[in-house]
Amino acid sequence: MRFRLASGVHITGERVELGVDKAFVVDWHMDRSPVPIVPATTLKGWLREGAERVLRGVGLSACDGSSPQTVCGECLVCKVFGSPQRRSPLRFRDVRLREALWDVRANVSLSRHRKAAYEERLFFSEVAWQSGFEARVMGVFPSQEEALQAAALLYLPAQLGVALGAARSRGLGWVELEDFSVRWNGESEPLSRVLQRAEEILKGAPEKSEGNG
Ligand SMILES: [Zn+2]
Repeated sequence: MRFRLASGVHITGERVELGVDKAFVVDWHMDRSPVPIVPATTLKGWLREGAERVLRGVGLSACDGSSPQTVCGECLVCKVFGSPQRRSPLRFRDVRLREALWDVRANVSLSRHRKAAYEERLFFSEVAWQSGFEARVMGVFPSQEEALQAAALLYLPAQLGVALGAARSRGLGWVELEDFSVRWNGESEPLSRVLQRAEEILKGAPEKSEGNG
């Protein structure tokens, strides 16, 4: 999946930077300077959230994967993205933002807790922009049908373009899908089959039974 940033993006890391309240998460490996990244967990959570929204939008069941207490382990999203009962067959990796420009932006935070405007304060966060990233997700599946289903469940949120990272309420995090390609066992697969499976999912087609295809 190749994405382009359509706005600035902020994903909070743990690095301490002078004059910055919220530093971007970065990778230092093999570089003299830090490179902003989208961590694997952020990428997975973002795509899962998008998949939940797509399925709920057409009236299909999808649990809320944002907290362990609400994960059902039974729905299609749980089957593809995992649950406490069953690991996801998908493997996500950290991805670097390519040739990212990034700078520090000043924001005003309002205390929602006290609902008081005088609680506002200025804070500074690092924002990346004019960039993009290429996310490669791998998976091992017992059947091609399940692989196709997982690919469709990645395609749907990827093209939906739910905002990524933090500060989404301030208009950050918009990304656009530029390219989506699939390979089975090293062989390129036409996207049409993934699109067809995605359409079937949206129409609420029952899952195809495994192993008798
Ligand atoms: Zn579920």
